[in-house]
Amino acid sequence: MEGMVTVTDNIIRLSRSVIGDAEKKAVMDVLDKGYLGMGEDVQIFEDKLGRFFSRPAVCMNSGTAALQLALQSLGVGRGDEVLVQSLTYLASFQAISATGATPVACDIDPGTLTLDVDDAKKRLTDRTKVIMPVHYASGMGALDEIYDLANDNNLRVVEDAAHALGCTYRGKKVGSFGDIACFSFDGIKNITSGEGGAIVTKDMDVLQKTRDARLLGVEKDTQKRYSNQRSWDFDVRAQGWRYHMSNIMAAIGIEQLKRFPEFAKCRRLLAKRYHKKLEHLDSIELLNQDLDSIIPHIFVIKLKDADRDEIRKTMLERGIQTGIHYKPNHYLSLYHSDITSLPITDRIFPQLLTLPLHPDLYEQDIDHICQQLMECLREQ
Ligand SMILES: *Cc1c(COP(=O)(O)O)cnc(C)c1O
Repeated sequence: MEGMVTVTDNIIRLSRSVIGDAEKKAVMDVLDKGYLGMGEDVQIFEDKLGRFFSRPAVCMNSGTAALQLALQSLGVGRGDEVLVQSLTYLASFQAISATGATPVACDIDPGTLTLDVDDAKKRLTDRTKVIMPVHYASGMGALDEIYDLANDNNLRVVEDAAHALGCTYRGKKVGSFGDIACFSFDGIKNITSGEGGAIVTKDMDVLQKTRDARLLGVEKDTQKRYSNQRSWDFDVRAQGWRYHMSNIMAAIGIEQLKRFPEFAKCRRLLAKRYHKKLEHLDSIELLNQDLDSIIPHIFVIKLKDADRDEIRKTMLERGIQTGIHYKPNHYLSLYHSDITSLPITDRIFPQLLTLPLHPDLYEQDIDHICQQLMECLREQ
């Protein structure tokens, strides 16, 4: 297609949902059927996800809910600790504290910005129950070492794989191996179901508990719901929530999963274009990632000695939205602790800048963004 700068309100957006006629028709079909809640469309989406991951999936109404229920199904609660990097979306921390457990903020590897295993090791206590590695910017970091640390210390692993749908680690798809992986299908992730998320694991106990917990803890209600019925006589033994996925969301997700190969190709192509344009610059450091094995959800760079916030302002004046992923959670009042010292996170956070990446951009847009960025850096 003829290259041009893609503009919406004259701005290149940092991210956006890419929805086509197939998704719109699928939603209309659900509306016409008149069964909007959790029913057969959710079952179909879960079956398709199961084939995608070669493991069963349980869908929720958000990735945050998936993380919370994964932890709850492991019995994590008050008094327990979960190791997690501070540099992550607030959702990782909120999912942990929602169970009553304490998120223990860890430092990151400066090259991949994923969990620093040695730092995590130092923060182990008798109360540590789970390690939650975050696949930051779709990179898995030292995931093997994280599993080794977990095995050595009898810990479970809940992977926050919200950025990592379709990524592979040592040739294996994330979610197809390991303990528990949680995905997000919110509007801007690698695929979307409007909002939504899923737990992927082969642990039958976790699967059963999360199926029940997403619907107020009503035992074994899922099978009934999938045949468009519900339980009228039931028992409840555990705290549950209204975290189930709706048929409307599932219908969008089913169509998006079909389009995943197209989205994946595009995201990878654009990220490679960024690399080609930026890798020779002295003022920028790229993340240590293998773009042939990941499907990049966000494109993050480190500005070595520029004023990041000033650059963001000038980029916006030039019609380009940028982002900051993320404000470290140990800076937030809720999670602040006087004993937390995370030197790498503290040093790198002010350098982080996220450039636009979504399947509605063209390589020419990336060239334009890089050109503008280089001018901003020169002028500063
Ligand atoms: C998006 C995201 C989540 C939460 O997913 P939602 O579907 O938005 O609730 C969790 N962790 C990370 C790192 C994310 O980017």
